[in-house]
Amino acid sequence: MIYDLIIVGGGPAGLAAGIYAGRYMLKTLIIERAQDGGQISQTAEIENYPGLRTDIQETGLTLSDRMTEQVKRFGAERAIDDITGFELSGEVKRLTGISGTVYEAKAVILAMGAHYRSIGCKNEEKYKGMGISFCATCDANFFKGLEVYVVGGGDSALEEAMYLTKFARKVTVIHRRSELRAAKSIQEKAFANEKLHFIWDSVVDEALGDGVLQEIVIKNVKTDELTYIKADPADGMIGLFGFLGMIPNTDMLQDSGISLKNGYIDADESTKTNIEGVFAAGDIRTKELRQVVTAVSDGAVAAFQAEKYLAG
Ligand code: NAP
Repeated sequence: MIYDLIIVGGGPAGLAAGIYAGRYMLKTLIIERAQDGGQISQTAEIENYPGLRTDIQETGLTLSDRMTEQVKRFGAERAIDDITGFELSGEVKRLTGISGTVYEAKAVILAMGAHYRSIGCKNEEKYKGMGISFCATCDANFFKGLEVYVVGGGDSALEEAMYLTKFARKVTVIHRRSELRAAKSIQEKAFANEKLHFIWDSVVDEALGDGVLQEIVIKNVKTDELTYIKADPADGMIGLFGFLGMIPNTDMLQDSGISLKNGYIDADESTKTNIEGVFAAGDIRTKELRQVVTAVSDGAVAAFQAEKYLAG
């Protein structure tokens, strides 16, 4: 079976593309490797997407579940697979899944998103969910009244650190340089926040603790000096949040012929890539604002462009 359109990725961009492709009556397959929703499936609170419900406890997952339901109504087929092989240059595009299945279509929308950069300290995996987190909106509540450390110096690190001050007793930003990357306006607000502290020129070297995170070892990158920060015994644990930027999920595209820029698929607002019939939507694409609202916008545009391409 050769589909009109295959959409790779079931996050907001891919699901929006599925809705639009369904409305264009394209024979469409959406392939997702795990759970629909992408990054928002991990987000406890979404408040900046238009039309959110207030009569239910709206989370990223409730929003993406409704998107999935909506896609169903428009008839796109679904498959669960992790696509590792991309043959995109011909008129018929061939995608090969980790399962060995080959999927074929005349047009493809790449909507595989991006993921958070890890902190890079020893034992990071061991303490994920046990003190180490990458989502303040999801986990801030667990650190009420405790001491929390935030790694990173960009907009996200400072904004999330300020959000965390509403829950934690004290929040300390650990940044690898002595100058922040964040916008000056955000820096001003952060420096004015009395609960926010800074450790400069430093990275987290190691996470330690008995079951939960109770100690972090911080290394000064200029002097190599190590500082051991232990949880107050009365608290029993500390929090460590990483906000070190995003990494696009484009590893698997290295040999595909798709042009990348700083790791992201090089495509403008038209979502067209350098390969005819292949489009990029959502966080995987070069763009300035990566949000659900811009991802779904990309999905709609990509489906529109795919329909135009298919109509010749
Ligand atoms: P970012 O701007 O790329 O910042 C990442 C931070 O992590 C940088 O301070 C970087 O340090 C640090 N970092 C990276 N790798 C590291 C490592 N291995 N060890 C230690 N530190 C490391 O990422 P972001 O803050 O997530 O922002 C992403 C984009 O979204 C940006 O364009 C940002 O403007 C935008 N954004 C905007 C808003 C807003 O406007 N309100 C809010 C959030 C995000 P260096 O500075 O030394 O490189």
